[in-house]
Amino acid sequence: MTAKVLIVEDEGPLAELLRYNLESEGFRVWHAETGEEAELLVREERPDLVVLDWMLPQVSGIEICRRLRAKPETRAIPIVMLTARGEEADRIRGLSTGADDYVVKPFSLPELMARVKAILRRSSPDRLADVLKVSDIELDRSAHKVTRGLRDVRLGPTEYRLLEFLMESPGRVLSRAQLLDGVWGRDAFVDERTVDVHIGRLRKSLIRGKEKDPIRTVRGSGYVFGEPPSRL
Ligand code: CA
Repeated sequence: MTAKVLIVEDEGPLAELLRYNLESEGFRVWHAETGEEAELLVREERPDLVVLDWMLPQVSGIEICRRLRAKPETRAIPIVMLTARGEEADRIRGLSTGADDYVVKPFSLPELMARVKAILRRSSPDRLADVLKVSDIELDRSAHKVTRGLRDVRLGPTEYRLLEFLMESPGRVLSRAQLLDGVWGRDAFVDERTVDVHIGRLRKSLIRGKEKDPIRTVRGSGYVFGEPPSRL
């Protein structure tokens, strides 16, 4: 089963970029240009998540968010708001808009993807792949088990979440801030050096003897898990 994501965004190029990236992660994607269109699509088939732009022609994203929250059948659909920097972002932070999360434009795609996946992991875990596999390392979500080759890898809860997060974006550089956000949550008061400590522990558990280090440190940027995805 794949998760269905509805993008509500009137800027064509941005909507296309979002669609391309979500589809390449294996999601089913629909796109609506206006709030009204989004409401029709939601009525047709319930999405697992909505990426909703604040600035839409006619009915604003925030109004659509309220309407979805007002109806029992759509109340629980997770919503990620896209907002411009400044006032809107402050309002979305300060007010209870009903959105589950938000990203401020211009945003980094890996960040948005990480947020989408983090929400789906909580709201529809059955819609995400059960087993993540990168080279000889396998993480089985349903069994909560990690193996490397034939060997079981024992991890603490934080190292497990860190590995899960890294394995969801193989080959991509993830900054310490992104890792903090994705693994510890955006409200956690944790120092970025904490990430390095847990990466160190994760490496120690993953590597035995002459096994290759699956985590690459990118100086000044962050960490990459596995090789970059091959391009056709
Ligand atoms: Ca817009």
